[in-house]
Amino acid sequence: MQTSVVGFPRIGAERELKFASEKYFKGEIGANELKAVAKDLRARHVDIQRVAGIDFIPSNDFSFYDGLLDAACLCGIIPERYTELELSELDTYFAMARGYQGEKGDVKALAMKKWFHTNYHYIVPELEDKTVIGLHGTKPFEEYDEAKERGVETKPVLTGAYTLLELCRYTGTKTREDYLDEIAKVYAEMISRFEERGTKWLQFNEPSVVMDLDHADKTFFVELYKKILAKKGNVKILIQTFFGDVRDIYEDLIEMPFDGIGLDFIEGKQTESLIEKYGFPKEKILFAGLINGKNIWKNDYEKTLQFLKALKDKGTRVVLSTSCSLQHVPYNLTAETGLAEEYKKYFAFAEEKLVELKEIGKLAESDAPEKEPVYRENRSLFAIGRDCADEDVQKRLSEVKEEDYIRLPERKERKKIQKKIGNLPLFPTTTIGSFPQTGDVKKNRSAFKRGEITKEQYKNFNKEKIERAIRWQEEVGLDVLVHGEYERNDMVEYFGESLSGYLFTKKAWVQSYGTRCVKPPIIWGDVSRKSPITVEWSVYAQSLTDKPVKGMLTGPVTIFNWSFPREDISMKESISQIALAIRDEVLDLEKNGIRIIQIDEAALREKLPLRKSDWYREYLDFAIPAFRLVHSGVKPETQIHTHMCYSEFTDIIPAIDNMDADVITFEASRSDLLILDSLKKCNFETEVGPGVYDIHSPRVPSVEEITEALQKMRTKIRDDKLWVNPDCGLKTRGEEETKKSIVNMVKAAAAIRSSHRS
Ligand code: GLN
Ligand code: ZN
Repeated sequence: MQTSVVGFPRIGAERELKFASEKYFKGEIGANELKAVAKDLRARHVDIQRVAGIDFIPSNDFSFYDGLLDAACLCGIIPERYTELELSELDTYFAMARGYQGEKGDVKALAMKKWFHTNYHYIVPELEDKTVIGLHGTKPFEEYDEAKERGVETKPVLTGAYTLLELCRYTGTKTREDYLDEIAKVYAEMISRFEERGTKWLQFNEPSVVMDLDHADKTFFVELYKKILAKKGNVKILIQTFFGDVRDIYEDLIEMPFDGIGLDFIEGKQTESLIEKYGFPKEKILFAGLINGKNIWKNDYEKTLQFLKALKDKGTRVVLSTSCSLQHVPYNLTAETGLAEEYKKYFAFAEEKLVELKEIGKLAESDAPEKEPVYRENRSLFAIGRDCADEDVQKRLSEVKEEDYIRLPERKERKKIQKKIGNLPLFPTTTIGSFPQTGDVKKNRSAFKRGEITKEQYKNFNKEKIERAIRWQEEVGLDVLVHGEYERNDMVEYFGESLSGYLFTKKAWVQSYGTRCVKPPIIWGDVSRKSPITVEWSVYAQSLTDKPVKGMLTGPVTIFNWSFPREDISMKESISQIALAIRDEVLDLEKNGIRIIQIDEAALREKLPLRKSDWYREYLDFAIPAFRLVHSGVKPETQIHTHMCYSEFTDIIPAIDNMDADVITFEASRSDLLILDSLKKCNFETEVGPGVYDIHSPRVPSVEEITEALQKMRTKIRDDKLWVNPDCGLKTRGEEETKKSIVNMVKAAAAIRSSHRS
């Protein structure tokens, strides 16, 4: 059976592309040197797949920054403010991705957004009314030729025209319909250019069709491809979908002149039943996405072979494929020298997945696969099950009762109690948690990790930092203080390290955006808290002042969403386990005198399922109760805060209110405050701190500016419910600008307090 890879990681096993790009940005190397690194990486990636025996090896899956941005540039979707800079092609591209500030001008970067529900971010292309879409680049052809010169016939990968138009931001009056002819022409031209080269297969990535599609979407899709494929010659076209099933458009897809259809069997819950119900045309090839491109667990060969057999029995022509691009998993396990074999044998990163493809492909052709050693070895892993259970955790979870999800007394009552003893002024001021992680803070941490300083020394340094932060916050006159989070590298890894059931890797980097990579921890088994995590730091900070210091935790949904999840238990069960672990921390903080506790859920909104009909049943119905389980055990006088990075939760406001926090802070300064209208309309009960200034930029906001923002907020939110705080944590900011900004923020709060009195 033939095998196909949707896309391969591109940043480099040693993050070579990241480091070369950063050097290029700093002017330490030239464009040619950067391009040489890129070329070398592409060659290596093609070779790895060739040696592994993959039949459909992708090309043009490489990117200097982001694949969607590549597609936009290829089609000439470049806003004028970038072309006006008159930079080289590469630098124009980087200006769009990262912004440009130099002798030729000063232009901000394009916006960045989550790539569907992955932790990867893409650059949002902008379509201006004056943009004329046309074929402007040569990247896909060059990368195809480059592989061909090395003797490998690849399958060039292109972002499909539908997905590209779907993900663009339209800055003028035009809509996607206005670009139909132009973009169809570009894609048709690309097909014929490949045809001239003798290319056998082309892959169009169309993940946008797994979303909810209405009649207009479907018509547009069909119309678009009718045009693109009108004069299609010998090149075979694979329409590749991923991240879900194509229930809204399956019937059209199988009727259209595609030669191959790539379907996701891992996340596509209805993929199998769609094929069952509507059949799969004999003349087309099904690229069956059965090897999970998004998670790091080994494939269950027995299960996969059963799928393949069922398809074969129906006479379907099948190519075995990854479910999506492998860019969402790390390169290889060879680098994980710190992980014991007993763990590693259960994992498959990108390169190990190539082996799986090959092995399963072969087994699928065998008459007695169960006799093959590779099959038996795989079976032995799944037959016994992993040694990862913790009976105490399971018992505890099974004993959780309905009432454990409910905090009493109800919020209105708690509010009265908290107001009375909290002694906070109207419009209380606070920050979101972290203070600038300056060079000395990072140095202290890495020195400790390398064993150059003792734990004592490491802690003392942080304690000094905390003391200075507390003194400074008191001086400025903030009402609710924070300890500054100097001890944390990352808001998830930090907690994961103190939870049993978690595993950590050395080099398992995954691209998050551009040159940024993350190293998600792995949830290996049942999760519980080993010992108190943050208590010492919070208690120390509180001991220095009479003002309340917020305890600072990451919530269970965010911890889960930013880890590699288990596949043997449900998301609900995993999140609930983490919730119980964090609940222990909440109760310990309270016991030790912490009166306000913030539980961050930065990633709650972003992991909503792609289809609206799944939002509640498959996510919110247990994610929200899990959050309540974390804090339901505290006394009425303990105030629970939560924080979210986006204000884009207009459509799930009741669910957010149902988290039953006393206060929520969120990013709002860059949005138009429409969210506040919705909060009012929905009778949102939680007190709110919409960020009054943008922390993503070093700019210092003036007192007037913040006052004005607050006055606007007051027209939508009752005075006794409004908090005053920045957008998000301050860890990426410099000390100087942070201080100035907070001083202005406190002054603005004072100003509206006095206007309130008069
Ligand atoms: N408490 C965290 C901080 O201030 C929150 C970070 C986040 O929301 N991403 O850094
Ligand atoms: Zn945030």
